[in-house]
Amino acid sequence: MASDDKASGIANEPGRDFIRDIVKADLDAGRVAQVVTRFPPEPNGYLHIGHAKAICLNFGIAKEFGGRCNLRFDDTNPAKEEQEYIDAIERDVRWLGFKWDALFHASDYFERIYGWAEDLIKAGKAYVDDQSQEQMRLARGTLTEPGKNSPFRDRTVDENLDLFRRMRAGEFPNGARVLRAKIDMASGNINLRDPVLYRIVDAPHPRTGTTWKIYPSYDFAHGQSDAIEGITHSICTLEFEDHRPLYDWFINNLSVPSKPHQYEMARLNITHTVLSKRVLTGLVRGNHVAGWDDPRMPTIAGFRRRGVPAEAIREFIKRIGVAKANSIVDAGMFDFIVRETLNKTAQRRMAVLRPIKVVLTNYPEGQSEELDAVNHPDDEAAGSRKIKFGRELFIEQEDFMEVPAKKFFRLSPGTEVRLRYAYFIKCTEVVKNAAGEITELRCTYDPATKGGNAPDGRKVKATMHWVSAEHSLPAEVRIYNPLFSNPDPTGGEGFEKDLNPDSLEVLLGARVEPVLRDAQVETPVQFERQGYFTLDKDATAAKLVFSRTTGLRDTFAKETAKG
Ligand code: ATP
Ligand code: MG
Repeated sequence: MASDDKASGIANEPGRDFIRDIVKADLDAGRVAQVVTRFPPEPNGYLHIGHAKAICLNFGIAKEFGGRCNLRFDDTNPAKEEQEYIDAIERDVRWLGFKWDALFHASDYFERIYGWAEDLIKAGKAYVDDQSQEQMRLARGTLTEPGKNSPFRDRTVDENLDLFRRMRAGEFPNGARVLRAKIDMASGNINLRDPVLYRIVDAPHPRTGTTWKIYPSYDFAHGQSDAIEGITHSICTLEFEDHRPLYDWFINNLSVPSKPHQYEMARLNITHTVLSKRVLTGLVRGNHVAGWDDPRMPTIAGFRRRGVPAEAIREFIKRIGVAKANSIVDAGMFDFIVRETLNKTAQRRMAVLRPIKVVLTNYPEGQSEELDAVNHPDDEAAGSRKIKFGRELFIEQEDFMEVPAKKFFRLSPGTEVRLRYAYFIKCTEVVKNAAGEITELRCTYDPATKGGNAPDGRKVKATMHWVSAEHSLPAEVRIYNPLFSNPDPTGGEGFEKDLNPDSLEVLLGARVEPVLRDAQVETPVQFERQGYFTLDKDATAAKLVFSRTTGLRDTFAKETAKG
């Protein structure tokens, strides 16, 4: 299996990477007394598996090195942020198995951050700019050309203070003015060309309500929030590498209580997957999926609903490691780890996804019996259960061929197969309707083979799963295929064209063994020979609904090859 090789070929020792090396060196040299990290999500969407990488790293480092890790909401843009996202993020971090030492919000620091902006103005290092967004963009220059100074750059301290205070007081409309740092419009680093510190945004904030009419930019809020919390290692993704000089400029030009350092790591990318909240929001708002926790979504909530254990996500993050160069991880590897994890824990059950009826002509009518079935082949402690067997059964349509293809060893007229935990059966007659479709298979069973072995030692080449027609329960089964058929989907505008039209397959006529009446959400079982399935939250007392967590083999490769 290709995915086995990929998973085992990862050359990353657990618990060692360049960031952990830095942390260890800082502790050993006494540069920091205790490591303090933070996970800083912006509450403008649900967490995805890319965030899981940042979560495992920040919380993991704090735990491994006896430090602390905060959860901090980077809630500086009220136009996009919602309480629903704040709640979902807290729930998802906890579910992943992590506990924050303290819960903070950038908005807790708005007053202090504002004070630092006034300090910069007083030091002649910030000014209010009246240019429009478009004018500022044009004056910013390019990678090869320097920018141009704003005509408002030389305002006096008093004028700047007055205007900035009036911005705060709500005297000007959205976008009329901004506060900018006065650094260097000719800097080779565009982030240092007088970056915006404050914008006028007249929108209610989930926490501060209508108190504020101006909001700090990410750059002006992030490092200072780190400094307030005494963060020692501020870990972010590579696209912020060019922001580091600005991060340091603020830390060095403001009277902050500590001096954190920023370190950058590669973002997690996965084939067939888009990890961008903008696109994920687009999928939800465009009704391409049934919400943030749709089991096809690469969100933590989606994986949880799909039956993926938190342990598998943590293990995946551990195996991919932390690097400084961007790369893309094969989705098959994630799938492999989920399967590997569930193989150890999931109880075995029988379910027939696409049933065809079998009538055992020599089994007494009106009679049934109970057989023993083990719950886990490698775990005796999981015990066994009783399953009902009777004259009428269902087997999988694909387990029968009227004219068997070469190497097809399952049921066909005249061949004998084993029904798991039950008997040998042999097909004697194929019943069809007027349209020529097979409606029923007539078979005989051999009562001497009870438990699955013939006393005369004769062998069969296939063992098949089945359920009793009378005792099994009807169920809806949902099979998920990759949301994007393109292995490297467009991550921005036009992502719709890469969507897989067959990402959801619904099987309405499945039949499952009766104990599955007690199935629980987020507790996958293995449907023997089919894969891992978990009860979906859409299930009701009247209707069982199962979601496929993952198949038994490298279903990812197989299904994408098909599509
Ligand atoms: P997106 O691009 O999906 O909107 P973001 O970076 O804007 O993500 P934030 O809420 O700001 O989302 O992210 C919180 C933390 O998670 C940040 O430190 C960010 O660097 C990290 N993070 C986000 N996406 C990934 C990813 N794909 N891989 C690793 N870390 C990530
Ligand atoms: Mg962000």
